[in-house]
Amino acid sequence: MNLILLGAPGAGKGTLAAYLIEKMGVPSVSTGNILREAIANNTPLGAKAKQFMDAGQLVPDRLVIDLLKDRIAEDDCKNGFILDGFPRTIPQAEELDKIANIDCALSLEVPDEVIEGRMTGRRVCLKCGATYHIVANPPKQENTCDNCAEPLHIRKDDKAEVVKSRLATYHEQTEPLKEYYGKQGKVKSIDGTQGIEETKRLAEKALGL
Ligand code: ADP
Ligand code: ADP
Ligand code: ZN
Repeated sequence: MNLILLGAPGAGKGTLAAYLIEKMGVPSVSTGNILREAIANNTPLGAKAKQFMDAGQLVPDRLVIDLLKDRIAEDDCKNGFILDGFPRTIPQAEELDKIANIDCALSLEVPDEVIEGRMTGRRVCLKCGATYHIVANPPKQENTCDNCAEPLHIRKDDKAEVVKSRLATYHEQTEPLKEYYGKQGKVKSIDGTQGIEETKRLAEKALGL
């Protein structure tokens, strides 16, 4: 199955994707993680993307479309993939439709009021991409990744001011994708305000897993 996870920044896409990888036996592809890795490695792509990400704006379509195409052409995506954070614009969705058959767009419904607490409590591992929350999903040892024992980081764009612009960007450019995939009969929506475990159950049910 080729699955897209839709939802606001902080809705829980990455957390759910990490679970579905195991359940579905396919990899997840997070354009946000790929871009953050590029920045950490000082690549030309990273240099181009950084200013947009730090400001809470989208990275230009051309850059992300190319990197997504390269990524899903890799061997491990042959039997399916979970897209987390792509597409985020209609042109990205149109490009994706040219190169892959999407089976389902699972939309995590979380109102803006809930998002801020998600972002301010989020902690990430820059090495393996694991995501934690200081209250909802704390690591076993404070501020340390369970997988690789690296110290955890607060994302620069999880500051309250940047979260505001990311939410505005989401409503303006990404939310219309629900209608785009709705017209194709591919959208399944679930309540994303429940706890992490309940959200996993709702997703499984919606996907028939
Ligand atoms: P979140 O998990 O909060 O939704 P991501 O990690 O997916 O955030 O993305 C972080 C940032 O990376 C975005 O704010 C944006 O600047 C950039 N980005 C990630 N994916 C895309 C995309 N598909 N198109 C444009 N920009 C993207
Ligand atoms: P996204 O990838 O959509 O930006 P994340 O999966 O990174 O979202 O989740 C954002 C933050 O909220 C993280 O700190 C994560 O641990 C936490 N989180 C995710 N899902 C839930 C949930 N259902 N209830 C409470 N907190 C959650
Ligand atoms: Zn880690």
